[in-house]
Amino acid sequence: MSKTIIELKNVYKKYDDFTALKNINFTLNAGEFYTLLGPSGCGKTTILQSIAGFTEVTSGQVLFDGKKINDIPANQRPLNTVFQDYALFPNMNVYDNVAFGLVVHKVSKDEIETRVHDALKLVQLEQYAHREISELSGGQQQRIAIARAIINRPKVLLLDEPLSALDAKLRKDMQYELRDLQQRLGITFLFVTHDQEEALAMSDHIFVMNKGEILQKGSPVDIYDEPINHFVANFIGESNIIPGKMVADYQVAFLGHQFECADAGMRPNEPVEVVIRPEDLVITTPEKGKLQVKVDTQLFRGDYYEIMATDNQGDEWLIHSTNATKDDAVIGLTFGPTDMHIMRYNETETKFNQRLETYE
Ligand code: ATP
Repeated sequence: MSKTIIELKNVYKKYDDFTALKNINFTLNAGEFYTLLGPSGCGKTTILQSIAGFTEVTSGQVLFDGKKINDIPANQRPLNTVFQDYALFPNMNVYDNVAFGLVVHKVSKDEIETRVHDALKLVQLEQYAHREISELSGGQQQRIAIARAIINRPKVLLLDEPLSALDAKLRKDMQYELRDLQQRLGITFLFVTHDQEEALAMSDHIFVMNKGEILQKGSPVDIYDEPINHFVANFIGESNIIPGKMVADYQVAFLGHQFECADAGMRPNEPVEVVIRPEDLVITTPEKGKLQVKVDTQLFRGDYYEIMATDNQGDEWLIHSTNATKDDAVIGLTFGPTDMHIMRYNETETKFNQRLETYE
């Protein structure tokens, strides 16, 4: 079994009467890649800073290797942070930036040389040791920031939106590089992003956050296939979310029809929300469709068409199809029992109250 390296227990962070973190609990195992994912202001950076020691938690425990570290100063915690803006020293060259942590710890010159060389090699910039920081591209600067952060061989690396300043192409390349680097180093990464695609692509585990709380923890596949509530289903990937009601163990009703579904573990009559991903909808003729919708518009996305359509209740549908259709055409949609993910309806998170009443 993997060893727990970091644990947060009942962590709260309050600023006067504003609660930035509400009862945060999680464990991070050695050598795995974790991502805190959520919209701006949900508390991701506050969690990183609580672990790094830049923020004092209001209550709860932060544990490292089983020992409480709440009162240990940031510079004595055995972990490093990579920031969004790299935080490199502009007046030092690449070598001196990367060597900095070792110089501070009075490591011998020979060892510094070996370790700087190794760290630069890991980020594939060994030939840049004597360049000035201003002579590097954004992506190269980010790789130097990472080299500097791993030079002390921390057991944990905290990464706060490290790719957000990069353009789309470079950002994608760096996603591969970071994932690969994490696997080669075998250290725990705790990565912060508000980009759900980035989180899905890179992580072993994702913690989805909103308003200071962790709503769901799981592998990327689990979170995509089985979102726990409306917020997660909406935030992760694209989805059609339809209010409905359980009829029986394997029967769900929505939009005035009954459909066979997989076991949702819910009682008959329970109000639910049904998630269907756009790629799971298949277009057919109106007669053969389980539902009929009218096409509003479509966008060519290279390997598929993104089609927006409306059902007879006025709900918008998003469909991914390899074939184009016609604007204003009425089309049928089919989907199988396992293409529907059924979630318990949560009144506080949705605005579907009135629609649900139509099933009473
Ligand atoms: P982003 O993706 O925009 O960086 P985030 O999820 O990292 O957002 P945090 O920076 O952790 O969010 O902030 C969480 C909440 O705490 C925000 O609402 C923020 O305004 C609030 N907050 C952060 N620092 C302070 C502070 N010093 N005083 C008061 N409120 C603060």
